[in-house]
Order: sequence, then C-alpha cells, then structure tokens
Amino acid sequence: MAATLLPKARLAGQMSIGVVGAGIGGLASAVGLASRGFQHVTIYESAPEIGEVGAGIQVAPNFCRVLTHFGILERLKRDAVRLEQASVRRYVNDEQLNSTSFANLEKEYGYPTFVVHRADLHRALLERALELGAKLRTNSHVEDIDFEKTSMQIKGLGTVKHDVIVAADGIKSGIRAKMMARRGEIDETIPTGEAAYRVILKREQMENDPDLKRLIDEPTAIRWIGPDAHIVAYPIKAHNGYNIVSTHISNTVGLTEDWTARASKEIMLKRFDGWNDKLMKCLRLAPEGELVEWALRIHLPLSGWLDHNVALLGDAAHATLPHIAQGAAQAGEDGAVLGTLLARCTSVEEIPKALKTYERLRKARADWAVAMAKSTGEALHMPDGPQQAARDEQLKKASTGATSPDKWGDKATQQKLYSLDVVQQADQEFAKL
Ligand SMILES: Cc1cc2nc3c(=O)[nH]c(=O)nc-3n(C[C@H](O)[C@H](O)[C@H](O)COP(=O)(O)OP(=O)(O)OC[C@H]3O[C@@H](n4cnc5c(N)ncnc54)[C@H](O)[C@@H]3O)c2cc1C
Repeated sequence: MAATLLPKARLAGQMSIGVVGAGIGGLASAVGLASRGFQHVTIYESAPEIGEVGAGIQVAPNFCRVLTHFGILERLKRDAVRLEQASVRRYVNDEQLNSTSFANLEKEYGYPTFVVHRADLHRALLERALELGAKLRTNSHVEDIDFEKTSMQIKGLGTVKHDVIVAADGIKSGIRAKMMARRGEIDETIPTGEAAYRVILKREQMENDPDLKRLIDEPTAIRWIGPDAHIVAYPIKAHNGYNIVSTHISNTVGLTEDWTARASKEIMLKRFDGWNDKLMKCLRLAPEGELVEWALRIHLPLSGWLDHNVALLGDAAHATLPHIAQGAAQAGEDGAVLGTLLARCTSVEEIPKALKTYERLRKARADWAVAMAKSTGEALHMPDGPQQAARDEQLKKASTGATSPDKWGDKATQQKLYSLDVVQQADQEFAKL
C-alpha cells in the first residue's frame, strides 16, 4: 500500500523540537516530525552509540499503517515474516486451544502483521529520521529540564532550548519523574512479578528435526500457555531465525529491566520442566551463554502527559506488558499523531492546543491498550483447575469468532486497535478546534 502524501508543516523552518531518547519511540517521533518537513528536529540520546539489542518484534496492522505513512514499511519487508496464523496451545501436551487466522487482516484493515528483528526496525527508523534531516546527538544525557523555558541541561553540552520537547526516555523516564513531582505525585514503576527469557535459534539448529523444521518454516506465531507463564515463538529474519520469548512469574529480585543480563540455561530448563517436548527441544538448543532474562515492569496510567510544551511519548507515557504486541505500535502512533498536530500549527502560540489534542487523542487509546495487555496476561497465566478449563473452552469458541480472553486474538479488540487511521483522526480533530 502506498504512503499517503502528508501535508507539510506550516512552521517547518521555524519550530524547533528536541526529542529525548533514540529508542523506537524517540525515533518514531523524529520521523513523524521530520516527514512533515520540520527542519529543526534534534534527538538527544545518552548512549555513546546507537544499537538496538533484543529479539523479534511484532509489527501489527496499526503499526504497519504508521510505518507506511513514514515511508519505511517497504524496506522492512525484506527480512520480515508475514504472519498467517496465531495459535494458542496448552503447555503440557501442545494441544491447540485457539487458532486465529491472520491471513485476512490485510483484507479487513489494509495491512498484515509482520514480525521483524528489533534491530532491523530500529535501523530503518534511524535511517529514515536522518534521511529526512533530523539530527542525532549521542552521548547526550539529559540531566535536567526547565518546563517553563522548554530547555534542557545536557551533560557535556550545556543548555539547549526548543519550542517543544518530546520526552521519549523510556520506562525509567527522568522527565516523567520531574513532571510528576511538580504535580505532587510520586513516580513509580510497578514490578509485575513477571520476567522474560529470550532465546534466538538459528535455522541450522532446527533443520534436521522435522518438528522444529515445521516451526521455523510456518508463518505462525505460537503461544504455549501454562500456570504462571506463557511462551511466544515465531520465525524471524526471513525464516532464518526462530524467536522464543517467555513471560513468567518469577522472583524478580536482583533482575534489571535491561535486555543484557545473562541468565542460567539450567534454571530456565528447570522452570519449564514438564512443558511439551517440542518446546523443550527448542529450549535445550538455547546457545550457552546467550540466554537473557529481564524483569517486566509497568506504570499506572498517568494523570497527564504534558507540562507546558513538554510531552511524554512511548514507554515514558504508557509502559506496558508485551502481551498484545502494542508497546512500540502505540509509540509509533504517538509519533505520527504528534507530527500531524504540530504540522497544523500556524504560530508557536498554537503549540499548546496541538499538544493538548495529542494528549487527548493518544492517552485514552494507549491506556486502554495497556489494560488489554494486562488482562491478557492474567488470562493466559491461570493455574490448572476449573477456571483454566473454562478459559480453554472460551479460547476454543473464540476460534470461530466468540469473545476471547486473549485480547491479541480477540476480534473486537483487533477491530479497535487495527482499523483506526490515527493520522487522519488527528488531522480532523485539529481542524475542529
Ligand atoms: C519482551 C517484550 C516484547 C515486546 N514485543 C513487542 C511487540 O511485539 N510489538 C510492539 O509493538 N511492542 C513490543 N514491545 C514493547 C516495545 O519494545 C516498547 O514499547 C518500545 O521499545 C519502547 O520504546 P521507547 O522508545 O518508548 O523506550 P526505550 O526503548 O526504553 O528507549 C528510551 C531511550 O531513551 C534513552 N534515554 C533515557 N534517559 C535518557 C536521558 N536522560 N537522556 C537521553 N537519553 C535518554 C535510552 O538510552 C533509550 O535509548 C515488547 C516489549 C518487551 C519487553
């Protein structure tokens, strides 16, 4: 599908915007702004170098739509896998409890679901931001912010001033903490009690076993669900890699939210002992020394995302559990909407109006997506017993269209998530003001 031609910003050469953080959220906002013609977009990133680690990431239809507006979906497709099916299976015996066809998503919503490597998505966003003229400053840690003056103190760089500051500094956002403190609120990320393991297998490791070969060949995302845990697995890198991520209730004391903490394969295998053979064969193949485990945290919905001309975006605004694959997708929508609304301003005096509209449109939708992810985790992680048996019956019925406790595969949730063109909505809403 071709990218829509986006109207250019009226203050393209005048308005200056500082973006804090070069994660998927910060880069998406830089692209969202620069693709509207804004000529003064600067991204400040603490890290000395840019490089996304991590595993596969699902690019849902609503995220595909945003990436099309940004002009980068096509370049991502080369190594992407287009998902045809999502299958929910019982942990112990691999029995299929639910199968949702993703093949017709494109017909219904205009876009399919892809899975890509996180590094490929991150690189595509960065390249596009730079191509469009955004400036990247690495080694630029934001130490302090003055909300009234829209200025920041950057370590080693001194003070910088912009017309708008976008705080895309992630779940541990320092800018959010300062914003909340000014309102007399305490900023607290909440440990969910869940942790995640990440394993990536290579095609050569799976090719000689017919069960495993089928897993890497089929464009299917499988979730094996069991007491206190589930495991998501799907092929990535044009079927040359197999991405496996667990989320499991764990004693997370001592675990960080970084994706870099090495974990013990022996402990992981013990944790999933008794799960089905096909999955265990995969887990046993996890390369020694490459297994990563990290803690999953969220944030309760915020009372607001704005302070003067400073706006929160991405995980800083709506940190979520990953269970409906919407964290980065919502960050992408934030960036596209922000670009659309600021592009409509005819003077810098209109910035507050654009930012208020951004907050009004984005917050309700992103907070709802966070709630859907949480309820999905609760449904998938039930202990064995009568409630779990009832849930399994519901999942089976949902294969033919009934409401599903798994909101990723639930028709009504998909409709609300995937059908909305947030760019068009933002344009219409601004025009009404
Ligand atoms: C296991 C797992 C699976 C997931 N799967 C999916 C999926 O399939 N689909 C999906 O859409 N989403 C998924 N997500 C969610 C997604 O990864 C996140 O929502 C997204 O990456 C958040 O991006 P961000 O840019 O907001 O934050 P971050 O990636 O945390 O980026 C923040 C950046 O800000 C920088 N920074 C921080 N403080 C400062 C400072 N003071 N000065 C300068 N720079 C600073 C940091 O160095 C970092 O680069 C998943 C998440 C997890 C944990």
